[in-house]
This record gives sequence, structure tokens and C-alpha cells, in this order.
Amino acid sequence: MTDSTKPADPSAWHPDTIAVRAATQRSQFGEHSEALFLTSSFTYENAAQAAARFKGEEAGPVYSRFTNPTVAMFEQRLAAMERMEAGVATATGMSAILACAMALCAQGDHIVSSRSLFGSTYNLFAQLMARFGVSTTFVGQNDLDAWRAAVTPRTKFLYVETPSNPLLEVADVAALAEIARSVGAELIVDNCFCTPALQRPAEFGASIVLHSATKFLEGQGRVLAGAILARKQLIEEKFIPYMRTAGPALSAFNAWLLLKSMETLSARMEKQSRNAQLLAERLAAHPGVKVVNYPGLPTHPQHQLAMRMQNGSGGALLSFEVTGGRDHAWRVIDAVKVCSITGNLGDTRTTITHPATTTHARLTQEARDAAGICEGLVRLSVGLEYVEDLWADVSQAL
Ligand SMILES: *Cc1c(COP(=O)(O)O)cnc(C)c1O
Repeated sequence: MTDSTKPADPSAWHPDTIAVRAATQRSQFGEHSEALFLTSSFTYENAAQAAARFKGEEAGPVYSRFTNPTVAMFEQRLAAMERMEAGVATATGMSAILACAMALCAQGDHIVSSRSLFGSTYNLFAQLMARFGVSTTFVGQNDLDAWRAAVTPRTKFLYVETPSNPLLEVADVAALAEIARSVGAELIVDNCFCTPALQRPAEFGASIVLHSATKFLEGQGRVLAGAILARKQLIEEKFIPYMRTAGPALSAFNAWLLLKSMETLSARMEKQSRNAQLLAERLAAHPGVKVVNYPGLPTHPQHQLAMRMQNGSGGALLSFEVTGGRDHAWRVIDAVKVCSITGNLGDTRTTITHPATTTHARLTQEARDAAGICEGLVRLSVGLEYVEDLWADVSQAL
């Protein structure tokens, strides 16, 4: 394989250019589109070379559980887009979050996490990790005093999604990074909702950026994937050994789909966010809607902060509370004809979800109440359709 990138330094490029051009490795055939290496293992010239590769004394692929060239192109490209030094790809977003907990914590260690979380992430910290002696303190996303009070010398990382799912709360990443630094902990930001096309948490001090690449990065609802981006030393010392030992590897085929999808990421995010902004404005003026949660609206409590961190965009996700509780929310969802009723988000197709009974149904009523996920809440992940068709659909449903 030869490195196709011109002598130009990709770290100087804008993320839009990186998304299309960075980290392409060409084989001896000079293919223009990235090659798909569907192979579990790799061969060697002789036994000594095999030994050197296994020991890590010679660079080069060994086994696709931790060194596949197609997966490596995805890891390097996403890391460059996030302004991080290195990355590892995982089979799903959840396996990336589990990898952080397993690679960074041991029995007796501690996590501080926002209470506003993707449902499975909440369960991973509150139940699964607790069984192994890793405790988590949950705090309000924007209660900085609570974050400060919660950290201890055993805190290994602070964890936040911004904007959060499904209430679109925006976190002050720079302030959280300072609190993390004060106890030598990492700050992990789940950047799933914005993607590096809109927001790069490393620029505000996050030391680890995490993705469910299942969502906007792939963008067409075809694969499950995840990724962890961080400084090179952390990736090499903690995450590659974890991937080699525990094995939640991303398949080369899925990495290849992601490489193709990421080329259009910025164009998709731009139009999907523009569609979301218009729908949010019209929903906010609708009599059947109590509240609209969307960072692009001036009424959003962290609107200014969101505009600073998200490159002036509100993103493609919004949620709104109807006036009549669960029955009303379900009636709206049942009446849509264009939007898909599904739990996924980040697709080119607009999706509509009732968080309290689907994505966040496994939470206890208490945890849902604490997180503010009420029965009248409906989440929209806005797609690439013509926006007037979307508004006609949502407004007739209301
Ligand atoms: C979907 C999602 C995850 C989990 O990702 P999977 O790829 O489904 O495992 C984590 N965080 C957020 C914010 C998500 O939306």
C-alpha cells in the first residue's frame, strides 16, 4: 500500500476536505475509491516477519480484530475531522462507550455523567458497570456546581452528550474540560448529534470524542458502528490493547460504507439542519405544541452557547411536547404519512419517535422524570426530504 495523500498536511485542511480526501491508502492498483479489505488475517514473507508483526516491532496489519486497512482509513479520517490524533472503530456506538468504561476504569473507580443520556448509555453506567464495582454519579447537564461537587480522586472520566438525546440540552464543554482537568480525569463527549461537520469538541477541551457512527456519520440507516477518538498515547496504551483483547471490532465492510458516507456528511448536515430549523420555528408557533426543544431557536436556554460550539447551526434533531400527554403524542405519531416511525436517528429519511415508550422505556419512571422525558414528548430526526412535504405531514398529524 502506498500513501496517496499529497505532501500537503491534512491537519491544515478544513474538515469538509478531510471528509473527502484524508487518510486514503491506495494499493498497488491505484484505485480511486477506497479498497475494501474483506479479510480476517494477513500473510507474511516468513516466520520472523510474522513474529515481528505480532510483537508490534514491524508496522503492518496482523488480524482484522485490531488492524484492518479499510477500518484504519475510517479511524484516521474521522480522527482528523475531529482534530484528534488517533482513533479506534468499534462494532456499535454502545461498544465504544463500553470500551471507554472498560479501558479507563478498574474496580473502585468512579464516573461522573450527565443525567441527560441515551437510554442504553444510562443503563450501561447505572447497572452494568455498577456490577463490576465502577460507580457513577449522575448530575444535571448544566449544573456546573454539581459536576464540581461530584468529582473525586477516583473519577476517571466525565461523560456528556451535547446536544443531549432527546431534550437537546447543550453542555458547556470548555467548563466541563476544566473540571475534568482539575482531578486528572478525561472528558468524554458523545458527538453523535452534531458530528464533526458542525461541532468539534476537542476544540473546546474534550480529551475523548465518541460516536455512534450508526447515526449521521453513515447517515443512511444501513449499519451499526462506533468510534473513539483521542490523543495517540491514550489510543495506543488503552484502547488498542482493549480492542485486541475484548474484540468489539468494526467489520471492514461497514467501515467502507462509512468512508463513502462521510464524503457527503457536511452537505447532508447542512440541509438536514436547515430543514430542522424551519420545522422547529413552525412547531413553536403551533397551538397544539407546548414546547419545542431545538438549539437553533433563540428561546433555547443555551442558544448562544450552541451557536458558538455548533458552527451557527442547531443541528438536525428536535423534540417537542404536545399539549395532551401520551395519547396525544401517539395520535400524532400514528397520523404521519411521510416520516418513518422508528427509533433510529441521523438518517436521510425523517424519523419520528416517542422516547418515553421506546428509546428511553428501559429507564425507571424516576430516572425518566429526573431527565425530564415526559409522556407528551415527540422526537424528530429531520432528513433530506423537501421541507414543505415534511411540514405538510407533521402539521396535518397535529
Ligand atoms: C444511538 C446512540 C448511541 C448508541 O449507538 P449504537 O450504534 O446504536 O450502539 C449512543 N449515543 C447516542 C447519543 C445515540 O444516539
